[in-house]
Amino acid sequence: MAGAVRTRVAVVTGGNKGIGFEVVKSLCRLFPGDVLLTARNESLGRAAVASLEQTGLKPQFFQLDITDQTSIASLAAHLSHKYGGLDVLVNNAGIMFGRSSTATFEEQVKATMKVNFWANLNVCKTFFPLLHPHSRVVNVSSMLGSTALNKCAKDIKTRITAPDITLDELENLMKQFETDVSSGTYSQAWPETAYGVSKIGMTTMSLIQQRVLDREGKTDVVVNACCPGWCRTDMGGQKAISSAEEGADTIVYLATLPPEVMSPRGQLVTRRKIKPWTKGSVL
Ligand code: NDP
Repeated sequence: MAGAVRTRVAVVTGGNKGIGFEVVKSLCRLFPGDVLLTARNESLGRAAVASLEQTGLKPQFFQLDITDQTSIASLAAHLSHKYGGLDVLVNNAGIMFGRSSTATFEEQVKATMKVNFWANLNVCKTFFPLLHPHSRVVNVSSMLGSTALNKCAKDIKTRITAPDITLDELENLMKQFETDVSSGTYSQAWPETAYGVSKIGMTTMSLIQQRVLDREGKTDVVVNACCPGWCRTDMGGQKAISSAEEGADTIVYLATLPPEVMSPRGQLVTRRKIKPWTKGSVL
């Protein structure tokens, strides 16, 4: 229909609880379009949508397990068919093993890398071709990635922070971490943190993605990584200093950056401020 305004759409992964749920809530109020609350568990996702509906908000539900390529492809088809693409992507889903876990370090590395790095990367690879001009992508990382980076061997840190590192190179480094852990030879090169290294991958991936999108000439598509801060969620625990709502603030800020924004762009951001990625820090 001539002159029809298309409906914009935002997707949040891991939206059934914690920070992701707060991001959905906030986007429902601030984002001028449909907000898709996605969750790997359908009943948890639908319950989260129902609880927001009780407050007058109207998120939509779509099942998405980011480790399942069929599930990713199914959402991609839905986005293409219903919206002709995608306007906001919040890669929030993630896992972290607790201190009390009995899983071996190798098991923790495999499982954590699978979700936090490889699955988020696959989501991006599938959804990026759908991004409309002026889209915003937020990759939820962590300052623990920066801390881990500073504990890597010098040659690895140099390669990861090289301004011309490619996605292939990053993928090879992340594979190398997993291989080194499996063969028991990691300790000279990598810190003993599955979560920290997975978030090295998440942050570095984001900086590379912005460069690639710019090279491809995408119009005002902006990718940033962020740390929500230490938040009271199932992952962060109840002693954390910030609420999940406070953690969502930087994510929503980045998801709603105005058109033609010059900064932040391809950065790591926490508390709405750009954080030099190599510095490492506490939350
Ligand atoms: P929660 O554990 O509370 O929530 C994690 C969410 O991710 C859940 O919805 C979970 O679903 C979902 N998820 C996990 N695996 C998958 C998958 N394969 N497919 C789809 N969804 C999945 O964590 P937070 O809310 O605290 O964390 C959100 C993000 O913020 C994470 O990326 C985390 O690393 C990051 N972060 C959190 C900090 C904190 O202090 N809380 C600090 C720094 C970063 P389900 O309910 O089914 O398990």
